[in-house]
Amino acid sequence: VLRLEDVWKSFGEHDVLRGIHLSVAPGEVVALIGASGSGKSTLLRTVNLLEPIDDGRIWLGDTDISDPRIGADAVRSRIGVVFQQYNLFPHLSVQRNITLALRHVHRLGKKEADAAATALLDRVGLADKADAHPDRLSGGQQQRVAIARAVATSPELLLLDEVTSALDPELVGEVLDLVRDLADDGMTIVMATHEMAFARDVADRVVFLDAGRILEEGPPAEVFGAPREERTRAFLARFM
Ligand code: ATP
Ligand code: MG
Repeated sequence: VLRLEDVWKSFGEHDVLRGIHLSVAPGEVVALIGASGSGKSTLLRTVNLLEPIDDGRIWLGDTDISDPRIGADAVRSRIGVVFQQYNLFPHLSVQRNITLALRHVHRLGKKEADAAATALLDRVGLADKADAHPDRLSGGQQQRVAIARAVATSPELLLLDEVTSALDPELVGEVLDLVRDLADDGMTIVMATHEMAFARDVADRVVFLDAGRILEEGPPAEVFGAPREERTRAFLARFM
């Protein structure tokens, strides 16, 4: 689904991604972990074409999306993205937040888009909030809507950047449950997270980023249970 080949990215003098190689298979759930500033968000942003890369290639399926001639909208329509916060359009109802992409990206008619949105809201347990504006929802509910919106267009890939880190602790679980559901359904997911227990539980593979390089990766049981690198151990020790 996704392949990064020797991806480099710097901001000024600062090399933020230093030769990233990463392949994600269909249905795979990859957790990106690493210290603040290690490059997790930047990596996700390069995939969504929010940051141009300096070197290397990024493939989404058979498309070289690092080709500067590629249309960003066409690429983004194939990828669902949810960030830490401010994901929803505040002036639109929950329902409209979801139907917007369906109507404009997938060109569904109003009726079909409404039906799809209703089904999705039902699935995320928020059918009764369809007409509410986002500011009437809890943070956890907003993130569930944001995730519902991100998957409404049946993306090939879902990118999640710390989707629970702005939430009050009691709201984290409902959002993680939804991500787990999507993972169980076979969605291909790359997520940056500080939720180590969740990564351990849900990810097929954990990728540890250290100063813009992948220092270590593998199944959660290996990376968490028996990290090979001293720096991985030091990082994980902070969460234990
Ligand atoms: P966190 O866990 O805090 O979210 P992260 O791993 O997501 O961290 P990034 O946000 O990818 O880290 O940032 C990596 C480095 O790139 C940081 O040193 C950051 O200051 C720098 N950086 C990110 N975006 C920019 C930008 N637009 N301009 C300049 N520097 C940037
Ligand atoms: Mg980040």
